[in-house]
Amino acid sequence: MSSKPWYDKGLRFECTQCGNCCKNHGQYTFVNLSERDLERIPKFLGLTRREFLDRYCLSTPGFFPSLKFDEAACTFLDEHNRCRIYPVRPLQCETWPFWTENLEPKVWSGEVKDCCPGIDHGPLYPREEIERRAKATDDDFR
Ligand code: SF4
Ligand code: SF4
Repeated sequence: MSSKPWYDKGLRFECTQCGNCCKNHGQYTFVNLSERDLERIPKFLGLTRREFLDRYCLSTPGFFPSLKFDEAACTFLDEHNRCRIYPVRPLQCETWPFWTENLEPKVWSGEVKDCCPGIDHGPLYPREEIERRAKATDDDFR
């Protein structure tokens, strides 16, 4: 018999648009880009994939490309803490904070909550939606 996860009754989350998760701080500084992201974002910006990679990404052989962050924040964060590519933002940004690695009680109430003031506030996300988002992210980065 499989036991229920700790978030079986759902988790509360509401983005306050503080922009903190788009700023430069340790482990959440990396926004990896999946194939889906590399299809959508350059088109939205009117760039070829090559131009987008050269201008906005860090590429390391054997790893997914990731967005360049300058010292302060993601290059796509504007002065009002809004994302300039919001309609096509990377999957990792779209599914935050429901990532598999965040779905540990200590991580959720520790570094994730420290980074994100929207944790444990707002609407209740049911377990099925939490797991759908976590799986979508995992699947895109296989
Ligand atoms: S840190 Fe949380 S509340 Fe702030 S912008 Fe990111 S998701 Fe929204
Ligand atoms: S792409 Fe947009 S949502 Fe993602 S880190 Fe950059 S500014 Fe934030």
